[in-house]
Amino acid sequence: MSRDPEIAAEAAEAAAEAMRHLWWLRDSGVREVSTEPPRAPPQIAQPTAAPVSVLPGATYSIADKGCGSQELLAIREGLGDCTRCKLHGGRTRLVFGVGDPAARLLFVGEGPGADEDQQGEPFVGRAGQLLTKMIEAMGFARSEVYIANVVKCRPPGNRDPEPDEIEACEPFLKAQIAAIRPQVVVALGRFAVQTLLRDTTPISRQRGRWREYEGVKLMPTFHPAYLLRNPAEKKPAWDDLQLVMKEFGKSPASR
Ligand code: URA
Repeated sequence: MSRDPEIAAEAAEAAAEAMRHLWWLRDSGVREVSTEPPRAPPQIAQPTAAPVSVLPGATYSIADKGCGSQELLAIREGLGDCTRCKLHGGRTRLVFGVGDPAARLLFVGEGPGADEDQQGEPFVGRAGQLLTKMIEAMGFARSEVYIANVVKCRPPGNRDPEPDEIEACEPFLKAQIAAIRPQVVVALGRFAVQTLLRDTTPISRQRGRWREYEGVKLMPTFHPAYLLRNPAEKKPAWDDLQLVMKEFGKSPASR
């Protein structure tokens, strides 16, 4: 009997979570959803490599977040306990990436916020929760895609990353994309688009149009944090994501 309120609270939270997901879909213009269970993410071989020590006291393992292949691990090792730009002084954790090392779909954001800095994983705060909903609404599991940022350390007070910081970090993002070789990159917001495409046209004019980055199809769209502040833009963002879904043979009704 004493567990009833706990169970009721869990059920209420699960129902609220389901409603939030449906609201995201509805706000995004979805009028029909499938009741088919989502496809199980592919099994990824468990890493077996021994941890590698690069700098005294710093140990990286292929099991670390975002390091699930030898190539990605080598890039992470290359970063080491990075001090290449001034962001290193304020970070709790370097946020390398997360997800499937062989992902067909890769998302690039701007840089870690406070939650990401604490947890060492990209997009785990409020914007991250929205990004996860967007990924799931597209018919993917979060674990099936790869998520990285333009800068790997948190800019203080969540300010914009500065040009020297982006320049110092960009080779590592480039290397991550080359290692993963996704079918599609989704560039989330101004900094991802400007960094990857060298195009300073406002994101509102770039979104929704296929571009190419190093031979990979790239879709510019709004950043989830912007969507939280401007919910009316969720509809155009969903239009952009549907173009990406089409590339993978997915449609909202067939999920
Ligand atoms: N915003 C980003 O651009 N990246 C994160 O990891 C979190 C929030």
